Amino acid sequence: GFKCGIVGLPNVGKSTLFNALTRTAAAQAANYPFCTIEPNTGEVAVPDKRLAAIARIAKSKEIIPTRISFVDIAGLVRGASKGEGLGNQFLANIREVDAIVHVLRCFEDDDITHVEGRIDPVADAETVETELMLADLESLERRTEQTRKRATGKDKEAITVLPMMEKALALLQDGKPVRLLLPGIAIEDLRLLQGLNLLTSKPVLYVCNVAEGDAAAGNAVSAAVEKMAAAQGARAVVISAAIEAEVAQLPDAEAAEYLEAMGLEEAGLDRLIREGYALLDLITFFTAGPKETRAWTVARGAKAPRAAGVIHTDFERGFIRAQTIAYPDYVALGGEVAAKEAGKARDEGKEYVVQDGDVMLFKFNT
Ligand code: GDP
Repeated sequence: GFKCGIVGLPNVGKSTLFNALTRTAAAQAANYPFCTIEPNTGEVAVPDKRLAAIARIAKSKEIIPTRISFVDIAGLVRGASKGEGLGNQFLANIREVDAIVHVLRCFEDDDITHVEGRIDPVADAETVETELMLADLESLERRTEQTRKRATGKDKEAITVLPMMEKALALLQDGKPVRLLLPGIAIEDLRLLQGLNLLTSKPVLYVCNVAEGDAAAGNAVSAAVEKMAAAQGARAVVISAAIEAEVAQLPDAEAAEYLEAMGLEEAGLDRLIREGYALLDLITFFTAGPKETRAWTVARGAKAPRAAGVIHTDFERGFIRAQTIAYPDYVALGGEVAAKEAGKARDEGKEYVVQDGDVMLFKFNT
């Protein structure tokens, strides 16, 4: 499955947010650094309004959303790249995730210790980022040196990967995260970059954890974070972990009332999950029938047999073709039969690149 790692300095609200996300008390929030020691993983359903629309048309008994995982990663401190605090553990855990949700403390509370003794989320973000860049720099310098030698010796693999390594290394030496290579990157280059398994090449979403009263409009420090994120080509969301923790415990009707009273249109967590999903560069396709309407996830750029394989490995091996209806056609025409009559049900082969929203039916050999 696809994973977002929740990171940030101690006492910024990571565990509170994670608990709300997974509606469990598994990661216990407590007012001291390092309370979250083992990485905790929770699966969440990805909200998608298209599911209900398809299910209504297909007269499905059940709706099954797709899921992504969030991992609550132990608090990082200054010096982690040198093994301070839980540094090595932290870096190992972060290596395992596909994207980073970086929680920043944008609330004042004298009772809750701030490890740096002041509220300055932009500086906090830099502290964390610096540790990640230092760790990347150290590992990449060593590897690039070796790869240069192998490339001189005409090693094919080294020759392929070296230019990407050099680009990443140049950024790090310049004090910049490798993530800056991501916008508009070609898919083959992205795979090469991912193969380097760096920390700062993972996409980042900043979460501004604000006080309850600031949840609707944000505050001065969350605005500063949004500005910083925009400058990096990253995204930021404003959330009150305290509100989310409250909402997560309420029945749906009461939750809606509570949110409205706080001036919020929807739970911040729903926004967070959707942003996390977008961050992972995933797309959703659907299967629909009387039994169930179901959402499935593949990486952007995946071809039809890969999508079939998400449902069942046998489907990928025996893939013949896929009947595909684009979501807008499916809904506008009123379902599979009508879409077929209108010529909007396409028969696609092995090379078809799955598009977000495709309603698919696979034909395969067993
Ligand atoms: P972590 O170390 O980043 O995982 O932080 P926790 O989630 O354990 O939170 C640390 C402390 O801050 C706990 O006592 C939380 O109840 C408190 N806290 C978390 N979010 C908020 C918030 O939005 N407002 C206030 N006032 N306290 C919060």
